[in-house]
Amino acid sequence: MAGEREAAEPKNNDNPTDSPAGVGDTGDVDKVMDTYIAAYMTALQMPPSPGETRTVRAGAVTLLAAGRSVGSLCKLAAELPGKGWTDLVQHARKNPEATARPAAVSKPWCRECNYGQEPTFAAGRMRERADGRLEKCHCHPGYVPPQPTHA
Ligand SMILES: [Zn+2]
Repeated sequence: MAGEREAAEPKNNDNPTDSPAGVGDTGDVDKVMDTYIAAYMTALQMPPSPGETRTVRAGAVTLLAAGRSVGSLCKLAAELPGKGWTDLVQHARKNPEATARPAAVSKPWCRECNYGQEPTFAAGRMRERADGRLEKCHCHPGYVPPQPTHA
């Protein structure tokens, strides 16, 4: 009774598994769905209904497109059946991606800063300037290239 929202897709697509537009990797969606279905079977000893599967799948597609990680979504999807929920988007909104994950760092460590010791997290990628102060290394996620100063 909580699932009256059919607004995920404006058009009624007869073949929801075959949508090449949008998300690049359908395998990621499948991973989330596999986790969801497995958790559902465990919690309720029966497979989810097609409607539930569609709702969760639409949520997974939306969230993956929004940049949520597969691992995070699998974890959240596994929690839905036990709570009787199908709205993965809502659930994800209340559980933002864990911060301070190395996976969030796009750049590899340059192997030179932090005195040559790889920091356990990217924010430790500092290096000493000539005047002895610490500055963000160019491999630091918050590094801002120096602006050329000329009038
Ligand atoms: Zn560095």
